[in-house]
Amino acid sequence: MIDSAKQFLAAAISDNRTQIAALGDVSAQVGTTGDPRPIIEKLVAELSKATARATALEANFTETSRQLEKVQNSLHEAEQRSNTDALTGLANRRSLEQFLRAAQIRAMETGAPLGVFMIDIDHFKRFNDSHGHQMGDQVLRLVAKVLQDGVRDVDLAARYGGEELMAVLPGADLATCRNVAERIRHRIAEARLTRRTTGKEIGSITVSIGVAQFRLSESAEAMIERCDRSLYQAKRCGRNRTVAENEIEAEVSVN
Ligand code: GH3
Ligand code: MG
Ligand code: MG
Repeated sequence: MIDSAKQFLAAAISDNRTQIAALGDVSAQVGTTGDPRPIIEKLVAELSKATARATALEANFTETSRQLEKVQNSLHEAEQRSNTDALTGLANRRSLEQFLRAAQIRAMETGAPLGVFMIDIDHFKRFNDSHGHQMGDQVLRLVAKVLQDGVRDVDLAARYGGEELMAVLPGADLATCRNVAERIRHRIAEARLTRRTTGKEIGSITVSIGVAQFRLSESAEAMIERCDRSLYQAKRCGRNRTVAENEIEAEVSVN
């Protein structure tokens, strides 16, 4: 596109040179001829050629910029797609890692807390086996929606892996993050699932959630690891519950 615009411009410039040369001839004639009319006619003719060329040039640039805008739009869409998980519409793993890195830097700069939690659907394999993978996909989308609706615009809701979702909450400490997670867990457990085709109720599902808070200078992996350990604890303690990292020891001693 740019090449063709360049070629068009080069042709226009070369045309202009020819016109300037022609105007030079006209000016040479001024001293020798008595009648000014042929000179004026020649000038008018050269000017109208220049105008025609400028009009064509303008049209060419309008078209080029229209096409460039289209390219820009599709690049923007492609960027959105590359950051989004196709099934759930949440941020994907790549986007999550990017967000987390930036959030950690901001937390270190400002000293504000940074909370994360991971959601894992309980006995999801069993659910898929009984109701089919497509129904499973719908459940995953439902959990994703409840998660997305349950966090603020400044937070990030992402699909971490298969049936594991994650939320990053800048400014939220462990207790706040745990409250948000609990609210979301309740909403999921309360949702009544129905098969779309038949309208028949097929019960409900639950999730387990692990919560952690960022510790200054630690890596994202270290934080996610603690989140994972809390989640594992929630599973071990019977599922359908939220465990924050400061509860791990306490719950172990109960068992
Ligand atoms: P637990 O309560 O211990 O988490 O049990 P679980 O069955 O959920 O755990 P497990 O890790 O054994 O199985 C996860 C299941 O999640 C297996 C897989 O079929 C399902 N799963 C992962 N990704 C998707 C998906 O995109 N769509 C559907 N329908 N199922 C998925
Ligand atoms: Mg899992
Ligand atoms: Mg699971």
